[in-house]
Amino acid sequence: MRTLPILLALAAFPLAAQQNPLLGEDPVKISDHVWAIMGFPNIAIVTGTRATLVVDTGLGPRNGATLARVAAKLSAPNAKLYLTTTHFHPEHAAGDAGFPPTTILIRNDLQQREMDLHGAELLATFSSRNAQWKELLADVKLRTPDVLYTDEAKIDLGNATVRLLWFGGAHTKGDELIFIEPDRTLVSGDVVQNKTVPNIASDGGTPASWLAVLDKIAALNVFHVLPDHSAPGDGSLVTQEKAFITDIRTRAQALKKQGVSADDAGKQVSTELKAKYSDWPNTNVANFVKSVYAE
Ligand SMILES: [Zn+2]
Ligand SMILES: [Zn+2]
Repeated sequence: MRTLPILLALAAFPLAAQQNPLLGEDPVKISDHVWAIMGFPNIAIVTGTRATLVVDTGLGPRNGATLARVAAKLSAPNAKLYLTTTHFHPEHAAGDAGFPPTTILIRNDLQQREMDLHGAELLATFSSRNAQWKELLADVKLRTPDVLYTDEAKIDLGNATVRLLWFGGAHTKGDELIFIEPDRTLVSGDVVQNKTVPNIASDGGTPASWLAVLDKIAALNVFHVLPDHSAPGDGSLVTQEKAFITDIRTRAQALKKQGVSADDAGKQVSTELKAKYSDWPNTNVANFVKSVYAE
């Protein structure tokens, strides 16, 4: 197992790596207790003196097994293994069967409800995308969580406490935020990303609830952010996410008032944001504008 210096790893985090469904085994260090496997999606491995927490599973059990191997190498001797998921989508949650049976799976009850309602349907959709995804998701059997919580759970890793937080709906209804207290590191899922257009999944949160979640995150005073589909950054990513969503929402609400159609507003706001956020790879916010119109 190689460990890469963070700057090198981030420089070497091109789009292809972000989309490769096979996770690698080379962790990069994010903060004192937090490692990341950068890929589809980025995975956090949080290590303490008594226990290890893995956040997200990768797409299917083969990726889950890869992560369990990496976690074992990074873990203290005889450490307990915990697993949690940022949300129920397959690249985040469909690989739990690859972890050892003694792994303690924990998530919030709303996320589990979404899994029960829409998990199978999404697995079918993802499997139909291409042959590789189909193979990775063949015969996925999802485990029943060992622990369900409502708003917050704390995991004691020995020399580090991790807070699992449900602050409200954003990308999905059951989005979980993982805050590693001593490092002030946030594993942010899709809720705080780096120069990446936000996306509300069908049956997810609303623009208003997403902004409310960001206000609660701001109160955590985060130092490091590890998003799931973009490069890590510092606490300014939280402010940036809020500014971007506020900009979309303010403009979309104004255009709606003027009677502009949602489709036209989507095009117009995307163009305006391209000028303002010129260093973002893409500012197509048509779907998010539709979510604002639906509020
Ligand atoms: Zn997702
Ligand atoms: Zn994802």
